[in-house]
Amino acid sequence: MSIVIVGPGIGGLAAALSLHEAGHRDVRVFERVADLRPLGVGINLLTAAVCALTELGLMVRMAEPAAAPSTPAYFNRYGQRIWCEPRGSHAGYRWPQLSVYRGRLQRILLETVHDRLDPEAVLTGHQLVAVEHGVDADVACSDTDAGVVRGGADVVVRAGGIHSALHGSNGASQTILDARTPALHLTTAPTVEQALTRYEADRRPPTTALVHSNRRQVREHVMVPAHERAPHGFGDIGEVFAPGELADYATSCKRAAVFHPDAPNSRQSLTRRASADE
Ligand SMILES: Cc1cc2nc3c(=O)[nH]c(=O)nc-3n(C[C@H](O)[C@H](O)[C@H](O)COP(=O)(O)OP(=O)(O)OC[C@H]3O[C@@H](n4cnc5c(N)ncnc54)[C@H](O)[C@@H]3O)c2cc1C
Repeated sequence: MSIVIVGPGIGGLAAALSLHEAGHRDVRVFERVADLRPLGVGINLLTAAVCALTELGLMVRMAEPAAAPSTPAYFNRYGQRIWCEPRGSHAGYRWPQLSVYRGRLQRILLETVHDRLDPEAVLTGHQLVAVEHGVDADVACSDTDAGVVRGGADVVVRAGGIHSALHGSNGASQTILDARTPALHLTTAPTVEQALTRYEADRRPPTTALVHSNRRQVREHVMVPAHERAPHGFGDIGEVFAPGELADYATSCKRAAVFHPDAPNSRQSLTRRASADE
Protein backbone atom coordinates (compact mmCIF):
# COMPACT_ATOMS: atom_id res chain seq x y z
CA MET A 1 0.00 0.00 0.00
CA SER A 2 1.41 3.41 -0.94
CA ILE A 3 0.72 6.26 1.42
CA VAL A 4 1.40 9.98 0.99
CA ILE A 5 1.33 12.18 4.09
CA VAL A 6 0.98 15.91 3.54
CA GLY A 7 2.85 17.92 6.15
CA PRO A 8 5.74 16.71 8.34
CA GLY A 9 4.55 18.59 11.41
CA ILE A 10 4.05 16.77 14.69
CA GLY A 11 1.05 14.90 13.32
CA GLY A 12 2.44 13.97 9.92
CA LEU A 13 5.70 12.66 11.31
CA ALA A 14 3.94 10.71 14.08
CA ALA A 15 1.69 9.22 11.36
CA ALA A 16 4.72 8.22 9.27
CA LEU A 17 6.37 6.51 12.25
CA SER A 18 3.11 4.79 13.21
CA LEU A 19 2.61 3.47 9.68
CA HIS A 20 6.20 2.27 9.53
CA GLU A 21 5.83 0.59 12.91
CA ALA A 22 2.72 -1.15 11.57
CA GLY A 23 4.70 -2.58 8.67
CA HIS A 24 3.99 -0.10 5.89
CA ARG A 25 7.09 0.62 3.82
CA ASP A 26 5.84 2.81 0.96
CA VAL A 27 5.33 6.01 2.92
CA ARG A 28 6.30 9.47 1.61
CA VAL A 29 5.83 12.79 3.38
CA PHE A 30 5.44 16.04 1.40
CA GLU A 31 6.50 19.39 2.87
CA ARG A 32 5.85 22.65 1.08
CA VAL A 33 8.86 24.61 2.35
CA ALA A 34 12.32 23.92 0.94
CA ASP A 35 14.03 23.76 4.31
CA LEU A 36 12.39 22.42 7.47
CA ARG A 37 13.64 24.54 10.37
CA PRO A 38 12.94 23.94 14.05
CA LEU A 39 10.27 26.61 14.65
CA GLY A 40 7.75 27.38 17.36
CA VAL A 41 7.86 27.78 21.10
CA GLY A 42 6.38 25.45 23.69
CA ILE A 43 3.68 22.85 23.27
CA ASN A 44 2.01 20.77 25.96
CA LEU A 45 1.73 17.05 25.43
CA LEU A 46 -1.02 15.55 27.55
CA THR A 47 -0.55 12.09 28.97
CA ALA A 48 -2.45 10.32 26.17
CA ALA A 49 -0.06 11.84 23.63
CA VAL A 50 2.99 10.96 25.71
CA CYS A 51 1.61 7.42 25.93
CA ALA A 52 1.27 7.31 22.12
CA LEU A 53 4.82 8.58 21.60
CA THR A 54 6.10 6.11 24.19
CA GLU A 55 4.57 3.31 22.10
CA LEU A 56 6.68 4.61 19.22
CA GLY A 57 9.81 4.21 21.37
CA LEU A 58 10.46 7.95 21.62
CA MET A 59 10.08 8.54 25.34
CA VAL A 60 13.77 8.60 26.24
CA ARG A 61 14.69 11.10 23.52
CA MET A 62 11.62 13.25 24.17
CA ALA A 63 11.87 13.43 27.93
CA GLU A 64 15.42 14.73 27.87
CA PRO A 65 14.64 18.22 26.46
CA ALA A 66 11.15 18.41 28.03
CA ALA A 67 9.78 19.68 31.33
CA ALA A 68 7.15 17.68 33.20
CA PRO A 69 4.76 20.20 34.82
CA SER A 70 3.39 18.82 38.06
CA THR A 71 0.64 21.23 39.13
CA PRO A 72 -1.16 23.70 36.83
CA ALA A 73 -3.02 26.38 38.78
CA TYR A 74 -5.59 29.10 38.08
CA PHE A 75 -5.49 32.45 39.91
CA ASN A 76 -7.77 35.48 39.97
CA ARG A 77 -6.59 38.97 39.14
CA TYR A 78 -5.45 39.47 42.74
CA GLY A 79 -3.14 36.49 42.60
CA GLN A 80 -5.43 34.40 44.81
CA ARG A 81 -5.40 30.77 43.89
CA ILE A 82 -8.73 29.42 42.67
CA TRP A 83 -7.77 25.89 41.79
CA CYS A 84 -4.85 23.60 41.13
CA GLU A 85 -4.34 19.90 40.70
CA PRO A 86 -1.47 17.49 40.12
CA ARG A 87 -0.78 16.22 36.63
CA GLY A 88 1.20 13.47 35.02
CA SER A 89 2.68 10.61 36.99
CA HIS A 90 1.81 12.36 40.27
CA ALA A 91 -1.88 12.28 39.42
CA GLY A 92 -2.24 8.57 38.79
CA TYR A 93 -1.26 8.51 35.15
CA ARG A 94 1.17 5.95 33.86
CA TRP A 95 2.86 8.66 31.80
CA PRO A 96 3.94 12.22 32.55
CA GLN A 97 2.57 15.33 30.91
CA LEU A 98 5.36 17.07 29.03
CA SER A 99 6.02 20.64 27.94
CA VAL A 100 8.48 20.67 25.10
CA TYR A 101 9.92 23.08 22.55
CA ARG A 102 8.02 22.35 19.35
CA GLY A 103 11.07 22.67 17.12
CA ARG A 104 12.95 20.13 19.22
CA LEU A 105 10.06 17.66 19.18
CA GLN A 106 9.68 18.01 15.42
CA ARG A 107 13.45 17.52 15.00
CA ILE A 108 13.35 14.31 17.06
CA LEU A 109 10.44 12.99 15.01
CA LEU A 110 12.11 13.98 11.73
CA GLU A 111 15.43 12.35 12.63
CA THR A 112 13.57 9.21 13.67
CA VAL A 113 11.72 9.15 10.34
CA HIS A 114 15.06 9.46 8.54
CA ASP A 115 16.52 6.64 10.63
CA ARG A 116 13.61 4.22 10.48
CA LEU A 117 12.02 4.89 7.08
CA ASP A 118 14.44 6.47 4.66
CA PRO A 119 16.51 9.67 4.62
CA GLU A 120 14.55 10.52 1.45
CA ALA A 121 11.11 9.79 2.91
CA VAL A 122 10.39 13.47 3.53
CA LEU A 123 10.27 15.44 0.28
CA THR A 124 10.66 19.17 0.89
CA GLY A 125 9.67 21.78 -1.69
CA HIS A 126 6.52 19.75 -2.45
CA GLN A 127 3.39 21.76 -1.80
CA LEU A 128 0.32 19.62 -2.20
CA VAL A 129 -2.15 21.60 -4.27
CA ALA A 130 -4.78 18.98 -5.09
CA VAL A 131 -5.80 15.39 -4.62
CA GLU A 132 -7.51 13.71 -7.54
CA HIS A 133 -9.67 10.84 -6.39
CA GLY A 134 -9.60 7.79 -8.62
CA VAL A 135 -11.45 4.49 -8.47
CA ASP A 136 -8.49 2.42 -7.31
CA ALA A 137 -6.07 5.10 -6.15
CA ASP A 138 -5.71 8.81 -5.53
CA VAL A 139 -3.25 11.13 -7.21
CA ALA A 140 -1.41 13.69 -5.09
CA CYS A 141 -0.48 16.80 -7.11
CA SER A 142 2.40 18.83 -5.68
CA ASP A 143 3.81 22.14 -6.77
CA THR A 144 7.61 21.96 -6.94
CA ASP A 145 10.43 23.99 -8.48
CA ALA A 146 10.21 21.62 -11.43
CA GLY A 147 6.48 22.22 -11.88
CA VAL A 148 3.52 20.15 -10.72
CA VAL A 149 4.45 16.58 -9.83
CA ARG A 150 1.74 13.91 -9.78
CA GLY A 151 2.11 10.78 -7.70
CA GLY A 152 -0.30 7.92 -7.18
CA ALA A 153 -1.17 6.80 -3.68
CA ASP A 154 -3.65 4.40 -2.13
CA VAL A 155 -4.13 6.79 0.76
CA VAL A 156 -3.40 10.50 1.17
CA VAL A 157 -3.17 11.58 4.81
CA ARG A 158 -3.70 15.30 5.17
CA ALA A 159 -1.67 16.65 8.06
CA GLY A 160 -1.02 20.18 6.85
CA GLY A 161 -1.84 21.91 10.13
CA ILE A 162 -4.04 24.84 10.95
CA HIS A 163 -3.22 26.95 7.88
CA SER A 164 -3.66 24.10 5.45
CA ALA A 165 -6.27 24.52 2.76
CA LEU A 166 -6.78 20.76 2.95
CA HIS A 167 -7.13 20.04 6.62
CA GLY A 168 -7.56 21.64 10.04
CA SER A 169 -5.46 20.99 13.09
CA ASN A 170 -6.23 19.79 16.58
CA GLY A 171 -3.25 20.88 18.60
CA ALA A 172 -0.28 18.70 19.36
CA SER A 173 -1.80 16.15 21.73
CA GLN A 174 -4.91 15.35 19.72
CA THR A 175 -2.97 15.38 16.46
CA ILE A 176 -0.66 12.65 17.79
CA LEU A 177 -3.68 10.48 18.60
CA ASP A 178 -5.12 11.32 15.19
CA ALA A 179 -1.80 10.28 13.67
CA ARG A 180 -1.53 6.93 15.46
CA THR A 181 -5.05 5.77 14.71
CA PRO A 182 -4.94 5.42 10.87
CA ALA A 183 -1.95 3.09 11.10
CA LEU A 184 -3.93 0.81 13.39
CA HIS A 185 -6.90 0.62 11.05
CA LEU A 186 -4.98 0.54 7.76
CA THR A 187 -3.20 -2.50 9.17
CA THR A 188 -6.19 -4.34 10.54
CA ALA A 189 -9.19 -3.44 8.35
CA PRO A 190 -9.90 -5.55 5.24
CA THR A 191 -10.09 -2.51 2.92
CA VAL A 192 -8.89 1.08 2.85
CA GLU A 193 -12.50 2.29 2.92
CA GLN A 194 -13.27 0.26 6.04
CA ALA A 195 -10.05 1.47 7.65
CA LEU A 196 -11.02 5.09 7.08
CA THR A 197 -14.55 4.47 8.33
CA ARG A 198 -13.16 2.93 11.51
CA TYR A 199 -10.75 5.82 11.90
CA GLU A 200 -13.58 8.30 11.65
CA ALA A 201 -15.70 6.33 14.12
CA ASP A 202 -12.78 6.30 16.59
CA ARG A 203 -11.68 9.87 16.33
CA ARG A 204 -14.72 11.95 15.41
CA PRO A 205 -16.70 11.60 18.69
CA PRO A 206 -13.85 12.54 21.09
CA THR A 207 -12.63 15.26 18.74
CA THR A 208 -16.13 16.73 18.43
CA ALA A 209 -16.54 16.67 22.22
CA LEU A 210 -13.21 18.40 22.65
CA VAL A 211 -13.97 21.09 20.09
CA HIS A 212 -17.32 21.76 21.77
CA SER A 213 -15.72 21.98 25.19
CA ASN A 214 -13.02 24.31 23.88
CA ARG A 215 -15.70 26.51 22.35
CA ARG A 216 -17.37 26.68 25.75
CA GLN A 217 -13.92 27.44 27.18
CA VAL A 218 -14.38 24.70 29.77
CA ARG A 219 -10.87 25.16 31.06
CA GLU A 220 -11.47 28.78 31.87
CA HIS A 221 -14.94 28.20 33.35
CA VAL A 222 -13.56 28.13 36.82
CA MET A 223 -12.14 31.64 36.43
CA VAL A 224 -15.39 33.18 35.21
CA PRO A 225 -17.57 32.14 38.18
CA ALA A 226 -14.73 32.97 40.56
CA HIS A 227 -14.70 36.51 39.20
CA GLU A 228 -18.48 36.85 39.04
CA ARG A 229 -19.01 35.55 42.56
CA ALA A 230 -16.07 37.36 44.14
CA PRO A 231 -15.15 40.34 41.93
CA HIS A 232 -13.08 41.88 44.71
CA GLY A 233 -11.28 38.70 45.67
CA PHE A 234 -11.78 36.24 48.48
CA GLY A 235 -10.20 35.16 51.72
CA ASP A 236 -10.99 31.47 51.31
CA ILE A 237 -11.96 29.76 48.06
CA GLY A 238 -14.50 27.76 50.09
CA GLU A 239 -16.53 30.98 50.33
CA VAL A 240 -16.82 31.11 46.53
CA PHE A 241 -17.47 27.51 45.45
CA ALA A 242 -19.70 24.90 47.05
CA PRO A 243 -18.00 21.75 48.37
CA GLY A 244 -17.19 19.45 45.45
CA GLU A 245 -17.90 22.07 42.79
CA LEU A 246 -14.26 22.57 41.81
CA ALA A 247 -13.59 18.83 41.86
CA ASP A 248 -16.58 18.24 39.54
CA TYR A 249 -15.27 20.93 37.24
CA ALA A 250 -11.83 19.31 37.16
CA THR A 251 -13.26 15.89 36.32
CA SER A 252 -15.51 17.14 33.50
CA CYS A 253 -12.64 19.15 32.07
CA LYS A 254 -10.34 16.13 32.03
CA ARG A 255 -12.95 13.83 30.53
CA ALA A 256 -13.67 16.33 27.75
CA ALA A 257 -9.99 16.49 26.87
CA VAL A 258 -9.71 12.68 27.18
CA PHE A 259 -6.97 12.93 29.73
CA HIS A 260 -8.81 11.62 32.74
CA PRO A 261 -6.51 8.90 34.15
CA ASP A 262 -9.06 6.21 33.25
CA ALA A 263 -8.78 7.00 29.53
CA PRO A 264 -5.06 6.72 28.72
CA ASN A 265 -4.40 4.24 31.53
CA SER A 266 -6.96 1.74 30.31
CA ARG A 267 -7.05 2.24 26.58
CA GLN A 268 -5.90 -0.45 24.21
CA SER A 269 -2.48 0.04 22.64
CA LEU A 270 -2.55 1.64 19.19
CA THR A 271 0.37 -0.53 18.12
CA ARG A 272 -0.52 -3.08 15.45
CA ARG A 273 1.82 -4.78 13.03
CA ALA A 274 0.89 -6.06 9.60
CA SER A 275 1.46 -9.66 10.66
CA ALA A 276 -1.14 -9.32 13.43
CA ASP A 277 -3.97 -9.55 10.93
CA GLU A 278 -7.33 -9.34 12.61
C1 LIG B 1 6.23 26.76 12.25
C2 LIG B 1 5.23 26.32 13.28
C3 LIG B 1 5.38 26.74 14.63
C4 LIG B 1 4.45 26.37 15.59
N1 LIG B 1 4.64 26.74 16.89
C5 LIG B 1 3.78 26.34 17.86
C6 LIG B 1 4.00 26.67 19.23
O1 LIG B 1 4.97 27.33 19.54
N2 LIG B 1 3.11 26.25 20.16
C7 LIG B 1 2.01 25.50 19.82
O2 LIG B 1 1.24 25.14 20.71
N3 LIG B 1 1.78 25.15 18.53
C8 LIG B 1 2.65 25.55 17.56
N4 LIG B 1 2.42 25.22 16.24
C9 LIG B 1 1.23 24.43 15.93
C10 LIG B 1 1.41 23.00 16.36
O3 LIG B 1 2.63 22.45 15.89
C11 LIG B 1 0.26 22.23 15.76
O4 LIG B 1 -0.98 22.87 16.02
C12 LIG B 1 0.13 20.87 16.36
O5 LIG B 1 1.37 20.34 16.71
C13 LIG B 1 -0.52 19.99 15.32
O6 LIG B 1 0.47 19.68 14.36
P1 LIG B 1 0.14 19.32 12.88
O7 LIG B 1 1.08 18.23 12.53
O8 LIG B 1 -1.32 19.11 12.67
O9 LIG B 1 0.50 20.65 12.05
P2 LIG B 1 1.79 21.58 12.02
O10 LIG B 1 2.70 21.34 13.17
O11 LIG B 1 1.23 22.94 11.81
O12 LIG B 1 2.58 21.12 10.70
C14 LIG B 1 2.00 21.15 9.41
C15 LIG B 1 3.08 21.00 8.36
O13 LIG B 1 2.45 20.81 7.10
C16 LIG B 1 3.07 21.64 6.14
N5 LIG B 1 2.07 21.90 5.09
C17 LIG B 1 0.91 22.60 5.21
N6 LIG B 1 0.23 22.60 4.07
C18 LIG B 1 0.97 21.89 3.17
C19 LIG B 1 0.78 21.53 1.80
N7 LIG B 1 -0.28 21.91 1.09
N8 LIG B 1 1.73 20.77 1.20
C20 LIG B 1 2.83 20.35 1.89
N9 LIG B 1 3.06 20.68 3.18
C21 LIG B 1 2.14 21.42 3.82
C22 LIG B 1 3.48 22.87 6.94
O14 LIG B 1 4.51 23.61 6.30
C23 LIG B 1 3.95 22.23 8.24
O15 LIG B 1 5.30 21.82 8.21
C24 LIG B 1 3.32 25.57 15.23
C25 LIG B 1 3.17 25.16 13.90
C26 LIG B 1 4.11 25.52 12.92
C27 LIG B 1 3.95 25.04 11.49
